[in-house]
Amino acid sequence: SAARSRPDRVARYSGRLPADGTLTPHLMSELPAALASDQIVLHYQPQVAVDTGQVIGVEALVRWQHPVHGLLPPAAFIPAAERTGLIRPITRAVLDRALAYAADLHADGRRLAVSVNLSVRDLLDAQFPQEVEQALARHGVDRSLLELEVTESMAMVDPNRSLRVLHDLAELGVRLSVDDYGTGYSSLAYLQRLPVQRLKIDRSFVMGMVHDSASVAIVRSTVELARNLGLTVVAEGVEDDATLLALRDMGCAVAQGFGLGRPVPADRLLDVVDAIERRLAGVLADTLVLP
Ligand code: C2E
Ligand code: MG
Ligand code: MG
Ligand code: MG
Repeated sequence: SAARSRPDRVARYSGRLPADGTLTPHLMSELPAALASDQIVLHYQPQVAVDTGQVIGVEALVRWQHPVHGLLPPAAFIPAAERTGLIRPITRAVLDRALAYAADLHADGRRLAVSVNLSVRDLLDAQFPQEVEQALARHGVDRSLLELEVTESMAMVDPNRSLRVLHDLAELGVRLSVDDYGTGYSSLAYLQRLPVQRLKIDRSFVMGMVHDSASVAIVRSTVELARNLGLTVVAEGVEDDATLLALRDMGCAVAQGFGLGRPVPADRLLDVVDAIERRLAGVLADTLVLP
């Protein structure tokens, strides 16, 4: 890439990237053109069924492949895009690319689900469910294989409006999940009103499991709560096998994390999937826990 071939420029320009996740006005003005010129790219991170070790889905995670600054994480431009409203065309582009990729995978005989992250503005737009329906039709992807991720706090900005959009999405037959579960301030009563099928436990709790008994208790009780509400739990931030095995013992259904597979570009995903499944066959067989 340009960034790799011009290390001098990277060093000189990187100082202009503020650490607080906001873009300089200059970079922000580049974002619309970046979206039009395919600099906004997706990486995909595998999601694993904890009982079988099979990869059952992928989360699409956006990056900005900037010609000077290199690969920028979402924290560097998504907050700015939310403020300016550019997040709506970004969501549309992400949805379109993720579904195109899912269709390719399905044509290859890989029935992987694909998850896309939404933003507040998507949930406040009554037209959004229609866009999702049209994108699904355009790519011929089975509705049940699309997952849309929202956070509790997103849905609380304007609960009446966003609940209507969420119900329309649920009616389409796509899967909805609560992302970063446990970091918001919503009540259980509120959670129960959301038409979601999955809880994604925030990675801070999952990453804490190896050295912190409070994190273990939080994850364990979340798995139990979800079971009682009829929800599937996804643990994000699984960084090692000990955590994966502990999650299995708790009855957590799905895991995602650097210890299983990092987000990678589409052309590397199937190699990563094969490597994960080969490795986990050993890890999960090693320590059979009897009921
Ligand atoms: P998220 O949806 O909670 O995504 C998970 C984030 O955790 C990703 O960071 C992923 O790389 C990271 N992660 C996964 N496993 C591990 C692990 O084991 N350890 C650690 N330390 N981190 C792990 P990423 O890609 O930087 O995304 C950050 C956030 O940006 C996402 O959090 C999501 O809120 C937002 N985002 C990403 N893509 C999109 C998008 O297309 N649209 C919108 N609106 N937001 C997006
Ligand atoms: Mg997410
Ligand atoms: Mg998350
Ligand atoms: Mg997050």
